[in-house]
Amino acid sequence: MSRALFRYKEFTTRQDPMTEPEYAAVCVSGETESCLERSGHRIDPVIVDEWMRKHMTETGHLNYRRTFVDFAELVPTAQLNSAPTSEVPTA
Ligand SMILES: [Zn+2]
Repeated sequence: MSRALFRYKEFTTRQDPMTEPEYAAVCVSGETESCLERSGHRIDPVIVDEWMRKHMTETGHLNYRRTFVDFAELVPTAQLNSAPTSEVPTA
């Protein structure tokens, strides 16, 4: 097994441009127990919102826990500074 050799001292964390973020919702309606119906992970937040509205219509449930997941990568900062791009580092 070989070890990676990093020549750069500083890295910048950014959203991975090759992977779509994911959105999801879980129904947390219920007085003693939560419903816990799930939208599944979607790359379009509008589809999650549509699922919530459909679930509300069918059940009357109004409360949801939403999640947003993105994928990150570490990029050598020097590479970002030299690349002719409009990307803005996230951290
Ligand atoms: Zn529900």
